Amino acid sequence: KSLPYFCRGEVIRGFGRGSKELGIPTANFSDSVVDHLPADVATGIYYGWACVGNGDVYKMVMSIGWNPYYKNTKKSMETHVIHTFKEDFYGDILSVVMVGYIRPERTYDSLEALIAAINSDIEEAKLKLELPEHLKLKEDNFFTSTA
Ligand code: ADP
Ligand code: MG
Repeated sequence: KSLPYFCRGEVIRGFGRGSKELGIPTANFSDSVVDHLPADVATGIYYGWACVGNGDVYKMVMSIGWNPYYKNTKKSMETHVIHTFKEDFYGDILSVVMVGYIRPERTYDSLEALIAAINSDIEEAKLKLELPEHLKLKEDNFFTSTA
C-alpha cells in the first residue's frame, strides 16, 4: 500500500465547483503534485493531516477524482482542511499526509445528500485521526522542516 503518502505543493484556483458556497472549501493542488501521485493511489476520499505554509497542522479530508476540466483524463486532488481560516491561501504551499482511505467517489441525488456525505467523511476523519498511530504523523518532521 502507498499510505501514508506525503506531498506538498502550490494551492491553485479551481474552476468554481462552488465548494465554498457549500461551506466546504477545497484547496486544489497544482498539476505537479497530481502528476507525481502513484498510479495505484485509488480515486476516492482520504483523511489525513495538512498544513498551510509554516502554519499549524490540522486534520483534513481529501478528494481524489477525475477532473472534468481536462475531460476526465487527469486527476485532481482537493483538500478540505478542518479548520476555519481568516483568509484564502491561493498560491501558498500546502503540505499533506494522506493517512487512510474512507470511500470511493460516488454521485448524489441531491446537494443535501452530497453535503451530508461530506460531513460524515469529516466526522470519520476526526475520529480515525485520534488513533495513536495516526496522531504521531501529525508530529512528523515533514511538517516542521522548511521546504
Ligand atoms: P476553488 O474552486 O478555487 O478550489 P473553493 O470554493 O473550493 O474554490 O475554495 C478553495 C479555497 O478556499 C482554497 O484554495 C483556499 O484558498 C480557501 N480556503 C479557506 N478555508 C479553507 C479550508 N478550511 N480548507 C481548504 N481551503 C480553504
Ligand atoms: Mg476547490
